[in-house]
Amino acid sequence: MARIDLHLHTTYSDGSVPPAEVVSLAHKASVTALAITDHDIVDGIPEALEAGTQLGVEVIPGIEISSRWEEKETHILGYFLKWQDPELQKCLADHRISRHTRNPQIVEKLNKFGLSLTYDEVKAKGHSASIGRPHIAQVLVEKGYVNSVKEAFDRYLGVGGDAYIPRELPEAREAIDWIRKAGGVPVLAHPGWTKQKGEDLKKFCKKLKEAGLLGIEVFYSTHHPRQTSEYLGVARHLDLLVTGGSDFHGVTKPGIEVGIGRGNLKVPEKLLEPLKNAACF
Ligand code: AMP
Ligand code: ZN
Ligand code: FE
Ligand code: FE
Repeated sequence: MARIDLHLHTTYSDGSVPPAEVVSLAHKASVTALAITDHDIVDGIPEALEAGTQLGVEVIPGIEISSRWEEKETHILGYFLKWQDPELQKCLADHRISRHTRNPQIVEKLNKFGLSLTYDEVKAKGHSASIGRPHIAQVLVEKGYVNSVKEAFDRYLGVGGDAYIPRELPEAREAIDWIRKAGGVPVLAHPGWTKQKGEDLKKFCKKLKEAGLLGIEVFYSTHHPRQTSEYLGVARHLDLLVTGGSDFHGVTKPGIEVGIGRGNLKVPEKLLEPLKNAACF
């Protein structure tokens, strides 16, 4: 049955599948429109657009920017971006510098814990521009130090892990600004991540709206139906757009498939038009 998927990663950030193949997987899963939303980078978009034209799938230029709101990591998705905009590209390139500072520090810390790996081995796992912790996790899995990417995050890489290093992040309002200046529609990614609910979540989303946010990612692979209905309520209450996607990463997030997430995700096609109408072309 026809569906859309507005949250997909490729090899240009920490996904394991190249853009054209992601589009092909989407096509096979009856996805009629998809958004490529790599972390902090738009370089995978042209390959996806070309594949989309060939297969007759609509490809929306997108992004997922890692930012912070009151010291908490907050991911902002952007849709229908003028992705070639030089100002946007400059902001993203500057933002990515913090990855290149942080990643070798994480590797150094792991080495101190007796885990033998080099940053070159990590870099070989992806395109050099948007290397992240999932690439480090993959190396740890391959070397047998941990059994899964999840274990790598739990023991070493995540907040509170032995080798956790914070990363300098822009404020969420800056990320929202970059997206809007490039004509795009900024949306709060996976609100379940914030672990906020009820009035706290409403207040948080209201502040983001005041900063220029236009939507919430209501449908998401790991949202419980209760969460989905709560986020739908928040979106209606605050008059925010509703979006959804799988957050597919390939092998770096096992068990999540394009278009269907863990099997029960279905993002309705009707969400696309209001999103498109909110963009500035
Ligand atoms: P980085 O961009 O280097 O800060 O890495 C963050 C990315 O790692 C997130 O966007 C997720 O894709 C992934 N990630 C974060 N926490 C976990 C976890 N506990 N298990 C697996 N992947 C995770
Ligand atoms: Zn990721
Ligand atoms: Fe995210
Ligand atoms: Fe994501």
